[in-house]
Amino acid sequence: MEILFSCSKCIDDKFNKREKQPYQLDAQYETINGSGFYDYTCTNGHRNIVVLQDLPFELLFQSAIVLLCNGYFRESVFNFAASLERFLEFCVKAFVFSKQHDFDLFDETWKGVSRQSERQIGAFYFLYLNIVNEPPQIIDDKMSRLRNDVIHKGEFISKHEAERYGKFVYDYINSTRKKLESKVEKQWNIGMGRAVDYHLKQVFKSINNRLKDAGEDTENQLIQTTTIPTYVSISRPLPTSSFEEIIADYISYHVKLMR
Ligand SMILES: [Zn+2]
Repeated sequence: MEILFSCSKCIDDKFNKREKQPYQLDAQYETINGSGFYDYTCTNGHRNIVVLQDLPFELLFQSAIVLLCNGYFRESVFNFAASLERFLEFCVKAFVFSKQHDFDLFDETWKGVSRQSERQIGAFYFLYLNIVNEPPQIIDDKMSRLRNDVIHKGEFISKHEAERYGKFVYDYINSTRKKLESKVEKQWNIGMGRAVDYHLKQVFKSINNRLKDAGEDTENQLIQTTTIPTYVSISRPLPTSSFEEIIADYISYHVKLMR
């Protein structure tokens, strides 16, 4: 899986020279990684250190769409399922951080559930009830079985089944967001902002460690931030498109931001 990045120095150079050339995209694909940042050199030799602000659940969902549209049905379920689990983790953080924002206390507690997704779902259910004063949407047993059959039993599934699972995840994320935005908007926004800060703090920590390990200057580096639009981006308004429409949308783009 790869993400398209454009070199800011190349774009600046072109803009400053006011070149009257046909528009050309100064961009290259970089393999997606788990660190949240990308350190690469463009074809003109400029180094770019870029923080990709998108959250893990957003990137996992987008990867699942890419896989689904390319005929990797089994693999798309892996990523849809991981996207849902990471979305629930994000919500747990937002719920906790809406009341206090000691990230270390969170880390200490998360250790107790980090290896078992069932425990994380339990944490989400009860924190949701506590914040919203209504029960959350309980994850459909049929969907959990489909996920388990693919992940644990190695089952091959049809395009239709993969789409059904993808649609379930897409709708679950959106309906949860919709409820939180309408019922507890202020608290959700505070918690969400802090949960995003938590994520970025981890990314900057790993950049510093990487630079330090390489014996490089950690102070005077130009670190840029960027984001790619995903179909479940939390920083964008709640999507109005159906799952079928986002699939058609991905297929229609000539230049893919993720492939
Ligand atoms: Zn460049």
